[in-house]
Amino acid sequence: METPLTAPIETDAVVIGAGPVGLYQVFQLGLQGIHAHVVDALARPGGQPVELYGDKPIYDVPGLPTVTGQALADQLMQQVSPFKPTYHLAHRVSALAVQPDGRFLLTTHRGLVLLTRAVFIAAGVGAFVPKKLPVPALVPFEGTQVLHHPPLTLDVADRTVVVAGGDQAALDWALAIATNRQTNGVCSVTLLHRRDVIQADAQSLARMNALCASGELVFKVGQVVGVTQAVGEPAAMAGLQISGPDGQTVVLNADLLVVMQGISPKLGPLTDWGLAMARKQLTVNTETFETSQRGIFAVGDIVTYPGKKKLILSGFHEAALAAFGAAPYIFPEKKIHMQYTTTS
Ligand code: FAD
Repeated sequence: METPLTAPIETDAVVIGAGPVGLYQVFQLGLQGIHAHVVDALARPGGQPVELYGDKPIYDVPGLPTVTGQALADQLMQQVSPFKPTYHLAHRVSALAVQPDGRFLLTTHRGLVLLTRAVFIAAGVGAFVPKKLPVPALVPFEGTQVLHHPPLTLDVADRTVVVAGGDQAALDWALAIATNRQTNGVCSVTLLHRRDVIQADAQSLARMNALCASGELVFKVGQVVGVTQAVGEPAAMAGLQISGPDGQTVVLNADLLVVMQGISPKLGPLTDWGLAMARKQLTVNTETFETSQRGIFAVGDIVTYPGKKKLILSGFHEAALAAFGAAPYIFPEKKIHMQYTTTS
């Protein structure tokens, strides 16, 4: 966890959303000489293409006959990298307020504060929020021993880990730490799912079977119904009460529960920011992609206008026009000569 900041970070541009359109917005701002801070609720960039169809081919991105959702995000990150944006991942923007000097103060749910001249909302269908297990006993351990969709870089040394989930993302997480069990020092890894079927590609399932056979990974069918606490350490979770398919409850040792139950988008606070909306989407001026608030621009799936198509290529076009529209607002004195990357 980052330490909550008290002093705001001052900047020219903040992009809300690191989906494909938010990332391309950063690139277009970079071409205009504008450095951007990028905030996303998720721990990794990529938005819908990564979260919802990471391994599926996309066929209609110009110049890329076929590209998977994950590969598109990787290529966009590479394209953006020369402009060195500052990423604030796993931060959900919860408040946006206009300041007396016309700038905007953004606050995230983890206490990060940004003060910016312009905002670019590329929030797609909303902030992706991990689904939780409906077990009240887990709540006191959230953020310490119960983590939702943590990054794969999490330090798991000396931990007894249970991964709860039955999809590709859950299996990927379990495989990653079980495969490197010797080097990352994890004590044990159990994949827990309420059914005996994991929805994942054949290669991952074969890998899972091999790791289960060698004892590096344990697969268990059941649902978390409660926790057990260490004797003398009431604040620490020592195990999980698991209800099995036979209706019996058993205790599974665990001092770290990784919850991978999928994610769902939430429009959330965005609807309270006083911006004009129609059918839960932001309305924009299609010359500049400015919203009803001067200095706040919006692009991608979050916007609506006559003829709008929720396509990646439409979002890319919108991001280019938003950058051209915002540049004179951010730098009123600066003349804009750039139009083609080939000649600039
Ligand atoms: P998103 O990809 O939704 O990204 C928005 C990001 O903003 C998310 O990461 C979210 O966490 C973040 N966010 C939102 N609110 C906040 C907040 N308050 N604070 C912090 N972060 C926030 N399009 C095509 O062109 N071709 C296809 O073949 C295609 N196939 C598709 C297949 C499926 C199954 C689906 C669901 C969509 C498909 N699409 C396709 C549509 C395409 O994925 C979207 O048009 C595209 O992802 C929109 O990009 P975006 O950046 O606007 O939004």
